[in-house]
Order: sequence, then structure tokens, then C-alpha cells
Amino acid sequence: MVLGSKKLVMETCKLCGTQFEIPEDDQRYFQIHGISHPKYCRLCSWKRKLSWQNEYQIYKTKCDATKKTMVSVYKDGAPFPVYEKEYWTSGDWVLPEMDYDENKPFFEQYWEFFKKVPRPSTNRVGAENSEYAHLIFDSKSCYLSFQVFQCERLIGCYRAVRVKDSANSFFCIESELLYECVNCSKCYNLRFSADCENCSDSSYLYDCKGCRNCFMCWNLRNKEYCFMNEKYSKEEYEKKISIYDLSQLEGQRRARKDFENQREKFTVKAAHKINCENCFGDYLVGCKDCNEIYFSDGCRDSKNILRGTEDVNSFDCVVGGKIELCYNLLQPGWCYMCAFTSNCNRCNDTYFSESCDDCSECLGCISLKRGKFCIFNKKYSEEEYYKIKGQIFEELRKSDNFEEFFNPEKSPFEYEETIADLYFPKSGDRNEKDFGKDKCTLCGRGLAVSEAERNFYEKMNLALPDKCFYCRISALAKPYSVIQLKTTNCSQCRNEVFSARNGKVYCEQCYLGAVY
Ligand SMILES: [Zn+2]
Ligand SMILES: [Zn+2]
Ligand SMILES: [Zn+2]
Repeated sequence: MVLGSKKLVMETCKLCGTQFEIPEDDQRYFQIHGISHPKYCRLCSWKRKLSWQNEYQIYKTKCDATKKTMVSVYKDGAPFPVYEKEYWTSGDWVLPEMDYDENKPFFEQYWEFFKKVPRPSTNRVGAENSEYAHLIFDSKSCYLSFQVFQCERLIGCYRAVRVKDSANSFFCIESELLYECVNCSKCYNLRFSADCENCSDSSYLYDCKGCRNCFMCWNLRNKEYCFMNEKYSKEEYEKKISIYDLSQLEGQRRARKDFENQREKFTVKAAHKINCENCFGDYLVGCKDCNEIYFSDGCRDSKNILRGTEDVNSFDCVVGGKIELCYNLLQPGWCYMCAFTSNCNRCNDTYFSESCDDCSECLGCISLKRGKFCIFNKKYSEEEYYKIKGQIFEELRKSDNFEEFFNPEKSPFEYEETIADLYFPKSGDRNEKDFGKDKCTLCGRGLAVSEAERNFYEKMNLALPDKCFYCRISALAKPYSVIQLKTTNCSQCRNEVFSARNGKVYCEQCYLGAVY
């Protein structure tokens, strides 16, 4: 990263009122688009964008075109027509377009157009036998599963990549037979575990690698038959763990409590960074020269990135990846030189657009495919397009109103339906309550159990859960939703470290000394 001069612009966040800095060097991210500098601080800007993203709340509704029952992320009464995904993709309907009126403000026209264009019920691409899923790509037979890529036979999973035959797991990669696991990779037959790699036939592990047949262990490397970090013979081990009957909820509760009681002894890394260089953030793999970046992999020269994959030279983009020279995007895929778009794929030079695929040089478009020089889905000549684009950008520069695109008040979702509520929770923790038979003990939602689910629990010899998918997933995801680092001290060497975690944390060196 080339460091520019130290000249700063100070700005007061329009939402929270805090002062934030915009270093001279950051100007490149928005100036190439001809857009003025941000008026919201990083967290408020993320909150605004995330309040447009419903990742895991789905409903049974009716398609506005075919009138068939469908599964949708939009409740009845969405501000625009919603079509079942297959029909929306079929092209058997006429895409609305609108004339641009140079005498009216751009966003006044955009919000009017916004209500006219049909949206797909869910985002499913290459998803077989997976009706009850959303944000699912190249996957088979997944039920109530969200943000999954190349997965098979999942139940209640959120953010999984190449995972098979698993349930209630979050943020896992290349694994099989997982149950209630978080941030695990290359694991097999693992239950109730977090931050593990290459582990199998084990339960209640924290930060273990290469372990087999272990129960209630933490920070272990290549061990077998360990219980509470003590090594036993196979027979002794089996006797030790037999007191926890995981086929009963009571046994699971007891195990959870005993494991939690050991938490004080865990060696916790201040930040999770693997093969990273010059990065400030957490949960990063293979990133270089990035600042304020969280839960991302393979990013370079980028800033204010949340859940990005291979983002390059981009600023303030959340949930998506493979983008370059982009600014303020939500859920993008393979985009170049775009700003203020939501759920657009393979687009170039596209602005203020939603749910567009393979478009270039487009502005204010929605649900458009392979468009070029389009404004409000209407095609113009190249010359006309650039003339109008110039007028719109001039108007937005003067009114300083570019960020209106992610105005949360226009979002078709309620705040609680969106992942803004996961990263910036409005509601406090709920207490368990008896809502009656087959009801979630936290929220009272019904606990319908599918046959596939019942089979899975039987095969894994586990009790059926007493909480609904939404409560289970948010419990698993919450500890992994902290997107701000605090200054603290390594509990061993006392050196200053940055960490998102509370309590005893270790700097990288002390962690390696303690664990390996
Ligand atoms: Zn703010
Ligand atoms: Zn619930
Ligand atoms: Zn230390």
C-alpha cells in the first residue's frame, strides 16, 4: 500500500454523531467513482447496508405472478412484486423500465421504480432439492440452510462451504457429520465444538487440531482419548465420557455446563489471522494490506470489509466477494468498478442497482440481465447514457446524497429480520420459557421436525433440540459477530494487543508458546 500524505478529513457521522477520520490515502477508493467522501462511520455504514440483508428468515407466501405457494425471504405485503425464483429466472415476464426525468431528484424516481420491479423470492443458484433455503449455490438437498456453497444434505446450517451431512452448524468448511460446530474445518463426526481443524469422533472441543476421540478438551494438538485435557486408555476414556448421555437434552446441558466451567483455562488468541500481512481485523485468512477487515479471506489493499472473499482495492463492502475497485456494495459477486449495488453479480461500472447480473455501464437498474447503457432498465445510446449519468452524479454531489441508496427506512425487511440485528443487536438476550409442547423454549416458534432431520438425529444418536433454528443459529453466530477490536494486554507478556474478545487473551507469540 502506498502511503499518501497524512492529511485527514474529519467528518461527523450522520447517524451516531461520532467524529471519524478519512485519511487522504482513502480518497482513492471513492474518487475514482466521482463520489464524495463517506458521511457515515464504518459501523453505521455497515449497519445501514446490513439492514437490507435478510439471510435466514423465510416465509411461505404466494408468487405474485403464478399465484403458487412459494418459500420467500419477503413476508406477504412486500413493497414490490415477488416472483418464485424459477419463474423470475425464466424470462416469461416483461421487465419494467422507466424514463429518467431530469427535472426530478434521482432518488425520488429510484424509489418509485423500486416498487415496480419484481424480485426473486430467494437467491438460489444451482440448488437441487433445496426449496427451504436461501443464498444457496451449487448444493443439494439442504433444508433451512443459508449462505451455503457446494454443500449436501445440510439441516439448519448457516455459512457453510463444502460441508456434508451436518446440522446446526455455522461458519464451517470441508467437513462431514458436524453437529453444533462453529468455525471448524476438515472435521469429521464432530459435535458441540468451535475453532477446530482436522478433528474427528469428538465432542466439546475448543481450538483443537488433529485430535481424535477426545471429549471436553481445549488447545490440544494431535491427541487421542483425552478427557478434560488428560490422556486416558481407551477403556478409561469411554468410562469417563459415559456419564454424558448426549442422546438426552439433559446430558447435553450437563456437558455444556461442565465444559463452560473449564473456559477460564482456555488459551484464547487475541485475534485470528492465518497467513496475513499488515492487516488490522479479525478472523482473516490470506489477507494483505487491509484495514478494519473481519471474517474475510484472500483480500488485498482494501478497507472496511466484512465477510469478503478476494476483494481487491475495495472500500466498505459487505458479505460477498471477487470484487475489484468497488465501493459500498452489499452481497456482490465478481464485480468490477461498481458502487452502491446490492446483490449484483458479474457487473462492471454499475451504480445504484439491485439484483442485476452480467450488466455493464448501468445505473438505477433492478433485476436486469446483460444490460448495457441502461438507466431504470431502459437502454440508451452510449452518449445519452454518459450525459444522464453525469447529470445524476452532479445532482448527488451537490446534495451529498449518494448514501441514500442504503437508506434503512426503504428496506423491504424489518430490522429484526436482517443480519443488522446479528451484528448490532437491538433486542437483549431472551430467557428460556415453557411455551408448550413442540415450541421453541426461547421464542415460542413451532418446532416442526422433518423426516430428514429425525433421521439425522437418530444416526448421530442425539436428542432433538428444544430451540428453533433461528434461536440456535443466532446463539452460535453471536460470539462470531464482534466487528470491533479493543486495545488490551496479553495476559502473559502484558504487551498491548488488539482483540474483539473479553477476558484473558494471548498475543500470537505467547499463544504459540502455550499451545504448541
Ligand atoms: Zn456512526
Ligand atoms: Zn426460537
Ligand atoms: Zn504475549
